[in-house]
Amino acid sequence: MEARYKILDIDLEGIEDIRRFREKLLSRPDKGSAGKTGTWRLYKPILYIDKCTRCGLCWLYCPDNVISWRQREIPEIDMEFCKGCGICGDVCPVDAIEMVLEGE
Ligand code: SF4
Ligand code: SF4
Repeated sequence: MEARYKILDIDLEGIEDIRRFREKLLSRPDKGSAGKTGTWRLYKPILYIDKCTRCGLCWLYCPDNVISWRQREIPEIDMEFCKGCGICGDVCPVDAIEMVLEGE
């Protein structure tokens, strides 16, 4: 017998229904969800390549998915979409990312 589930007062039957429900209602991180930020970003991240250990934490935590990184490579930040939140700098274990005022 097919299992029944109830989420937000919607009856769902089976895994396929749940999958469809998730696809419709859940948001997913996507590149630059804040849009192009060149004109309104207050701070910008500066990456010091010589300090970077290529651990990938900044890539993992960037909420806007604007850092690209491959194992053992230096990450790259897409400044067209970076919103300047500073999370990458906060999580970097070796302070290889510094947030500076835009225009400095
Ligand atoms: S400041 Fe860092 S964490 Fe925030 S959006 Fe820009 S690259 Fe991502
Ligand atoms: S978190 Fe810091 S050390 Fe790790 S890849 Fe990013 S910039 Fe480099």
